[in-house]
Amino acid sequence: MPKQIKLNPLSIYIHIPFCVSKCAYCDFISHRVGDFEINGGVEAYFNSLKTEISLYSGLLEKSKVRSIYIGGGTPSSVDGKFIHNLIMQLKSLANFSDEIEITLEVNPGTLTEEKLNHYIASGINRISMGLQTTNDQLLHKIGRIHSTNDFMTSYEAIKRAGIENLSLDLMFGLPGQTIKDIENAIHLVGILKPKHVSAYSLKIEEGTPLSESYQKGSITLPDEQLERDMYHLLINGLAEKGIMQYELSNFSSASFESKHNLVYWENEAYLGLGVSAHSKLNNERFSNTSRIYDYSKLLSEGKLPIVEKEFIDTSEDLFESIMLGLRLNKGVSINKLNQKYNIDFNVKYANALENLLKQGLVILTEDILKLTIKGMDLSNQVFLQFMED
Ligand code: SF4
Repeated sequence: MPKQIKLNPLSIYIHIPFCVSKCAYCDFISHRVGDFEINGGVEAYFNSLKTEISLYSGLLEKSKVRSIYIGGGTPSSVDGKFIHNLIMQLKSLANFSDEIEITLEVNPGTLTEEKLNHYIASGINRISMGLQTTNDQLLHKIGRIHSTNDFMTSYEAIKRAGIENLSLDLMFGLPGQTIKDIENAIHLVGILKPKHVSAYSLKIEEGTPLSESYQKGSITLPDEQLERDMYHLLINGLAEKGIMQYELSNFSSASFESKHNLVYWENEAYLGLGVSAHSKLNNERFSNTSRIYDYSKLLSEGKLPIVEKEFIDTSEDLFESIMLGLRLNKGVSINKLNQKYNIDFNVKYANALENLLKQGLVILTEDILKLTIKGMDLSNQVFLQFMED
């Protein structure tokens, strides 16, 4: 009998840096797809991705791929055949796990039946779509190109195509947003019953049009208390619809947690492909250039487009395991940390634990440390304690 070779589990993120237009709050690496389509720039980008994948063929052959996440940008803004070819190339090189999760980020108003057929044919079995809010005026204010109706049309089309594992993104803390807006969003979730919801608080990023409006005083944001009220309403309101919080910003029905994102929170290995993508492999973290021109040039010379690389030492890795693990509602297992890092957690972090318990920010049972609701609101404060100790 042939000897079974144990393959390392691997998760892959692929960045597609194109969107129909730029949202007012966005500082992700994304460009207007129309500007690139006219001179074949989109196709050239996918050819570069193909080269990058082939440069990792040695790693891919030795790995069992458990998740692929195609994000951006708006991956659904490009021709579906590019996405299909990408997955087919990976499939020809790597071993895909039988339970592989392949997620594609899409935005309302960019889907067609032809694209959906390409996605199904390539094995995409999870779609994450941005709703953000059901208030169309708010959508317009933050520069989204779609309306709630557009979202509904795309949502129905995805379901008709047979993809059941749907996630939708919501935002809170938007300028002028009210509690009623959050209630309306929760109500729609109750009707649509997606398997997963991500909810993010708006962050004003420097250099974005929204940041300029904020500095000029032409928009006002909900105050801190209202923003927290919105967050708590989401946690409780989604739970009433059977969509339970499992991570600070993520909620799902039973067994539909994002396999891909769990890899990040459990501090495991992932490979990032595409412009600006980050990777963590073998105690190293590295990132690709964020300039499309440099990305393509380096690859045309047969070089990986990596511009930053850093070694992660044991103490940094331990800190990351605690910080990322505490984001999860199930918390971190102290026994697992003790074994993995050869420490006595309760002794090493005695001061931090005493402070955090006194302030009611964490709960500690025999083996599990997790955040309280108050700890979730002040999570950065909690994480810092483990850095300083
Ligand atoms: S769709 Fe997403 S990635 Fe594209 S501009 Fe808007 S927020 Fe940024």
